[in-house]
Amino acid sequence: LIDISQLKKAFGQNVVLKDITLQLEKGKVLAMIGPSGSGKSTLLRCINLLSVPDGGAIRVGEQTIEFKGAHTRLPPERTLARFRASTGMVFQHFNLFPHMTALQNVMEGPVTVLKTPKAQAEAEARALLAKVGLLERAGYYPDKLSGGQKQRVAIARALAMKPAVMLFDEATSALDPELVGEVLNVIKGLAAEGMTMILVTHEIAFAREVADQVIFMRDGVVAESGPPSVVIDNPQQESTRAFLGRFK
Ligand code: ATP
Ligand code: MG
Repeated sequence: LIDISQLKKAFGQNVVLKDITLQLEKGKVLAMIGPSGSGKSTLLRCINLLSVPDGGAIRVGEQTIEFKGAHTRLPPERTLARFRASTGMVFQHFNLFPHMTALQNVMEGPVTVLKTPKAQAEAEARALLAKVGLLERAGYYPDKLSGGQKQRVAIARALAMKPAVMLFDEATSALDPELVGEVLNVIKGLAAEGMTMILVTHEIAFAREVADQVIFMRDGVVAESGPPSVVIDNPQQESTRAFLGRFK
């Protein structure tokens, strides 16, 4: 479903992604782990085109975009919007619209971008809020929700765009420990339904449990890649072992 080849990204002289190549099949979950600054967020942002890569190519489903540095000819805005909509992003800090209720947050994308009729968007948004266990909070504004509830609204909002792939960037690391579980449970539920997902996470035990494939990023390269039983439990490199040792 996703095919990333030789992806490159630099910020000035700082080369953050160095020829990243990876594939992910439909219905599979990829967990991305690795030290701070290794390029995990940048890779997710590139997949979502929040950052534009300097080189390489990204395919999601039928859509491919190639990047050729300054010579990259990005497709027309509508094609880009469609590509971006094929991935749903969930951030560490929720990024909900503060002046909208939970329901309005979830309806916003479908109504404005997909041009879904309001009544239909509302029905779908309510169904998604029910799915993340927040139907009774539909009328609440973000500042009246706990961190875990805000993050579940953010997940519902991303799902409302019917993305082919969900991208989670440390979705639980800003949460109080007692709220982490409710968000992980929602993600687990999505995995069980066959949602294709890429998770950047420091929850190593969770990665071992839900991921089909784990990649360990170091200095902008995929240092290790494979099933959790290898990358997490039996890494090949000493520095990976040292990193994971901190979570034991
Ligand atoms: P963390 O675990 O701390 O979230 P990360 O693996 O997600 O780290 P990135 O956020 O991808 O790392 O950052 C990788 C490198 O890219 C860092 O050196 C960072 O300073 C740099 N970087 C990221 N975004 C930008 C930007 N917009 N402008 C300049 N440099 C950036
Ligand atoms: Mg990051």
